[in-house]
Amino acid sequence: MAYAPFNLSGKVALVTGGNRGIGLGMAKAMAQAGADIVIWGSNAERNLAAETELTGLGVRVKAQTVDVSDEAQVAEGMEEAVAAMGRVDSVFANAGIGYGSPSFVEMKTETYRKVLSVNLDGVFFTLREACRHMVERAKAGDPGGSLVGVASLAAIEGAARNEAYAATKGAVISMIKSVAVEHARYGVRANAILPGWIATDMTAGAQANSAFAEKVIPRVPARRWGEPEDFGGMAVYLASDASSYHSGTTIVIDGGYSIF
Ligand code: NDP
Repeated sequence: MAYAPFNLSGKVALVTGGNRGIGLGMAKAMAQAGADIVIWGSNAERNLAAETELTGLGVRVKAQTVDVSDEAQVAEGMEEAVAAMGRVDSVFANAGIGYGSPSFVEMKTETYRKVLSVNLDGVFFTLREACRHMVERAKAGDPGGSLVGVASLAAIEGAARNEAYAATKGAVISMIKSVAVEHARYGVRANAILPGWIATDMTAGAQANSAFAEKVIPRVPARRWGEPEDFGGMAVYLASDASSYHSGTTIVIDGGYSIF
């Protein structure tokens, strides 16, 4: 018999960057557990492909073209999502970009600003709109909600040539902790997920690099790249009532890389 709290029927989960990679991996698992799904991405074609795939799992799906670095688009996107689905129970602020640089001294200011606009402004706008919806609902007598920020091991380990990216991910952890404390009174919890080395479009360059395959992946105790599907179970748990007393934490999913 299935563990009842993991049944997400009647719940709505919104995943930014849900049209591929880790976001789609989480969305597919939550759909399989019965949740209706909203995905946001900036590319309409990729959104449509993911929407079709998720709809095939038998739940209601809404894909929206939303650039998370744009404050107005995020506000409108959340309003539309709530209007279409009736409510949003969990929000995964997962959309992100990774821009490395040959070295820190060569890192361009425009690169720094671009990374901050998606990885930090985007998370701020997304979580703030999610909180506005959840606080309003709680005040109307219906408390609860789960917020998730997707950070990175780059937040806690030195990520050479990735100073801007690392800074945004450290900030996501700090923001999540503030949000968790402030919104506990509304039954809302907030946690950060820290992925390790995951095989997605973001890491295509590293996946194709033989030096990386020889030197880095052997240092992952699990001895393999992580896959988007490796995030499904955690997404279902965090979207479910089983995690209602779990808040303010950083959850590392890295095949043991960070403790080896
Ligand atoms: P992918 O490059 O595979 O996917 C990124 C997702 O973010 C896409 O769905 C993309 O959609 C969306 N996105 C990017 N920019 C925007 C934007 N401005 N507005 C809305 N959506 C946007 O990356 P991953 O799945 O690997 O990464 C997901 C998260 O996990 C990121 O936050 C990343 O930093 C983090 N992470 C990943 C690791 C890895 O090894 N892969 C390791 C540690 C952390 P679209 O193209 O339509 O805009």
